[in-house]
Amino acid sequence: MAPPRSVIIIGSGPAGLTAALYTARANLKPLVIEGLEAGGQLMLTTLVENWPGHRDGIMGPDLMTEMRAQAQRFGAEIIQGNVESVDLNHRPFTVKTTDQAYQTRSVIVATGATARLLGLESERSLIGHGVSTCATCDGFFFRGKPIAVIGGGDSAMEEAIFLTKFASSVTVVHRRETLRASKIMQDKAFANPKISFEWNSEVEDIRDAGQGAVTALVLRNNKTGEQKTLEVEGVFVAIGHTPNTSLFKGQLETDANGYVVTHSGTRTNIPGVFAAGDVQDHIYRQAITAAGSGCMAAIDAEKYLEGLPQHLGEVPAHA
Ligand code: NAP
Repeated sequence: MAPPRSVIIIGSGPAGLTAALYTARANLKPLVIEGLEAGGQLMLTTLVENWPGHRDGIMGPDLMTEMRAQAQRFGAEIIQGNVESVDLNHRPFTVKTTDQAYQTRSVIVATGATARLLGLESERSLIGHGVSTCATCDGFFFRGKPIAVIGGGDSAMEEAIFLTKFASSVTVVHRRETLRASKIMQDKAFANPKISFEWNSEVEDIRDAGQGAVTALVLRNNKTGEQKTLEVEGVFVAIGHTPNTSLFKGQLETDANGYVVTHSGTRTNIPGVFAAGDVQDHIYRQAITAAGSGCMAAIDAEKYLEGLPQHLGEVPAHA
């Protein structure tokens, strides 16, 4: 097997590629394993208007292409492929893709989180064209328009409340008749005159994939079986996120919702393993915060490697 790498970055969203940029500039010759969804969640968005430095906004996929090229310019090696298993219990660590096994002295986990979707075909084809999973990113496009938010948790309430700043009306569509959201969020949503609720309602279809734009939701009441059409121009699916941590189960400490627990910056419970971006952040979940924590992980990894004894099997005293 080839000698161990200094750092392997798993994931290629803003966190992974920023970690790649910084570790490349620190001459650590990072290897980035892109994952199945190369570029991460921004590949599913259209115009990103809150990435500083682009006053007219930048398309999500273009931003990721730029980040990738920038990291490569400084020597980051980026390969397609999906990590199938990791061994973080033995040093050097082992990272296995479908085709190859790599050894490395440090790992930056930037596998992100996946917004849960309803699973409708129309939802998939209209994502970025009226269907969104991020109110902060896309709310602005719905100024003066009627929209719906799907879900009954804190995220759904937070997004519904936020979206009332832009939308003419916000209808929360929830599959039960009680909300899962915390009392305080419920109270805020109930008190907001722009928000109304469709209870016991499931989305059967999002129209109109043929037009490439959202025109309505087809809802079915799961108590009465009644079907109705709700005319909206945008849909925010807020039914939770799943952090992509199954790969690390039993090795990295995660919280009750499966997010990697980090402390003192981006350190995980295993010295030499760092986590950045949405895989460890269920609060901010922004491209810019993911990129910021990718930068932190790179600096943390660099410091860790500086203190690493020549004999790779040892954990540095300060770790
Ligand atoms: P969540 O609490 O898991 O809520 C998900 C919501 O989506 C639930 O109401 C659920 O319905 C619904 N849902 C799930 N799958 C669905 C499906 N296939 N079809 C239709 N509806 C579906 O997720 P979250 O709201 O993203 O919150 C995640 C965590 O972050 C929570 O601990 C939350 O408290 C926290 N958070 C806190 C804040 C805040 O305090 N400001 C903001 C955001 C998130 P059921 O209720 O029927 O299961």
